[in-house]
Amino acid sequence: MNVLETKNVNYRYPDGTPALEDVNFSAAQGKMVALLGPNGAGKSTLFLHFNGILRPSAGTVMVENVPLTYDKKSIMKVRQKVGIVFQNPDDQLFAPTVEEDVAFGPLNVGLDQDEVERRVAESLERVGMAGFEKKPPHHLSGGQKKRVAIAGILAMSPEIMVLDEPTSGLDPKGASRILHLLHKLNQEGMTIVISTHDVDLVPLYASQVYIISEGHIIKEGTPQDVFSDE
Ligand code: ADP
Ligand code: ADP
Repeated sequence: MNVLETKNVNYRYPDGTPALEDVNFSAAQGKMVALLGPNGAGKSTLFLHFNGILRPSAGTVMVENVPLTYDKKSIMKVRQKVGIVFQNPDDQLFAPTVEEDVAFGPLNVGLDQDEVERRVAESLERVGMAGFEKKPPHHLSGGQKKRVAIAGILAMSPEIMVLDEPTSGLDPKGASRILHLLHKLNQEGMTIVISTHDVDLVPLYASQVYIISEGHIIKEGTPQDVFSDE
């Protein structure tokens, strides 16, 4: 089953910039899917459609086979299913401390204090950031910020986790740790979608790859399909 799908999605920014054209993308349940493409190709724009932050100019976005509707209540629900980790953690981390940041989502959906605390502890442990609870996020390194941003999404227990350039700006060790974590989450059953412009790392883990260029999907298939010289 496809848990995430776009059908002929077109998007044009309000200033007229065309960013996506007839994009058909899907992620099957429990898979890890990679979206590759150069800067400006439309990766972030596509991802912002997955939980209704952007609304297509034309076409349809479907989560668990249900077309998104854009009323407040449906969007709240979709955001619990589809968690997006932004490319720049500074867009996501704004609370005074790491633990408050990670707690924000779970509190926002009305979970009780004990459950929130449990999820915060578990998520920070998962990403290797236990012990940083009281630190202000802006004192952390780039890699640590990314891990806290991931923890904030994990704490929501989404069914689908979407990460925009999760390894960008990290050293090779940091990047491989993040990928290792994503691989593990995927093996536990979470559907993972990531974007990258680094062709080397990600295809090792992804079972399905899409290549986007200038707003068009130009190739899709298994890593072997996509990277073989036909
Ligand atoms: P990528 O994530 O692959 O780097 P983006 O989705 O950010 O690509 O950008 C796709 C296209 O949309 C680019 O031409 C970019 O300049 C344009 N774009 C991105 N954000 C905006 C915006 N807020 N307003 C207008 N154009 C934008
Ligand atoms: P060093 O940087 O000295 O080699 P380690 O490799 O032992 O230290 O790890 C440094 C920290 O990174 C540890 O606290 C480890 O738990 C943590 N870590 C664990 N999982 C991850 C992860 N998925 N991403 C990044 N760091 C992680």
